[in-house]
Amino acid sequence: MKVLVINAGSSSVKYHLYNMPQAEVLAHGVVERIGEESSNLSHFFNGKTHTVQRKVEDVGEGMELILDTLVRTDVGVIQDFSEINAVGHRVVHGGEEFTYSVNIDEKVIASIEKYADLAPLHNPPNLAGIRAIGRRLPDAKQVACFDTAFHSTIPKAAYMYALPYELYEKYGIRRYGFHGISHRYVARRAASIMGRGKYNINAVTCHLGNGCSITAVKQGRSIDTSMGFTPLEGVPMGTRSGDLDPSILFYLGDKGYDVKALKELCNKKSGLLGISGVSNDVRNLVELSDQGDPRAQLAIDIFCYRIKKYIGVYCAVLDTVNAVVFTGGIGENAVFLRQQICTGLNQVGIQLDEEKNKMVVAKEAEISTDGSRVKVFVIPANEQVAIANDTYELTRCEQPIVSK
Ligand code: ADP
Repeated sequence: MKVLVINAGSSSVKYHLYNMPQAEVLAHGVVERIGEESSNLSHFFNGKTHTVQRKVEDVGEGMELILDTLVRTDVGVIQDFSEINAVGHRVVHGGEEFTYSVNIDEKVIASIEKYADLAPLHNPPNLAGIRAIGRRLPDAKQVACFDTAFHSTIPKAAYMYALPYELYEKYGIRRYGFHGISHRYVARRAASIMGRGKYNINAVTCHLGNGCSITAVKQGRSIDTSMGFTPLEGVPMGTRSGDLDPSILFYLGDKGYDVKALKELCNKKSGLLGISGVSNDVRNLVELSDQGDPRAQLAIDIFCYRIKKYIGVYCAVLDTVNAVVFTGGIGENAVFLRQQICTGLNQVGIQLDEEKNKMVVAKEAEISTDGSRVKVFVIPANEQVAIANDTYELTRCEQPIVSK
């Protein structure tokens, strides 16, 4: 059975075509810079690469390009669309309604549309992907896997803000959390590596990519996470500020910044980029700090300090912790940042093995000392395989699976 996994964002669409259940990747790729003058498709198949450069107006057109490529006689991997049995979509916001992955029908589409109010940059492109598949592959089953779903087990005391309660009732203002597909995947992998059942692990999972979030996982379920009502809360990220005193925004409002400028400031101009003044990419910052750039060093220091603080807090919340997991582009590759984050966490039982840590770039491995009470793992993010598995399960058994 073939399952296509789609991750549609505002300016890119990533795809993976799997043979299931063995999760063999037949082809994968990405359409990038959608809406810009020169968009491009990178398509990987049978150990080869095929690229296309042309303007792609929107997600729908990007999907057309992907589907046409998959059936091309020269670079394609299938003969016709009937070979694709099901399509799994990453959907960012499922509100309080979706607590696990679901088969997509008109009602689900209406709900995803409704939650676009909470995720205006994400749910509309997700929907555009679903609709494009509906047009071109009307017989394929479609499944939605929500980034928020894994966090639906967070208790009320952890998801409520200390604001007037009516705001929760009227506008749904609460912590939703994001990156749930990734946190769930790495928590389950860590459980499996440790020979534990998937609901028999307590872990702090650190997804550190362009966006960063930390999750406390108790008995396999999310009980708290650093991102909140939106992905802005929590640790600093490439261009997002993470936690800050909201009064800073009121103060800047009084100084003449309008809401649009403040949104832009916190989401696009802060974080590693804002502090360093030069880059949101950890690779550049490490290089610059090695050359003695003090602001690049400060950006790294703030980033590591704030992540360490969250790990400490979640260790307290979890009581017993079996594992800390690093994933995402930074978590998987940035050896020195992992070391800096873990330095001084011995008190909570986390002891990194420096030599093991140095050897681990973009691969799955344990990086803690043999005596470390809490095991530390690097586990490459693989949201797409988690989506493929959910899609396969749901399509096969026709029953909603509980994938919290
Ligand atoms: P996304 O969240 O968009 O999926 P990734 O998980 O791929 O992004 O993370 C991208 C980030 O990972 C980059 O901005 C960069 O900071 C960091 N990164 C990628 N490769 C490396 C590396 N070799 N060393 C340090 N940081 C890296």
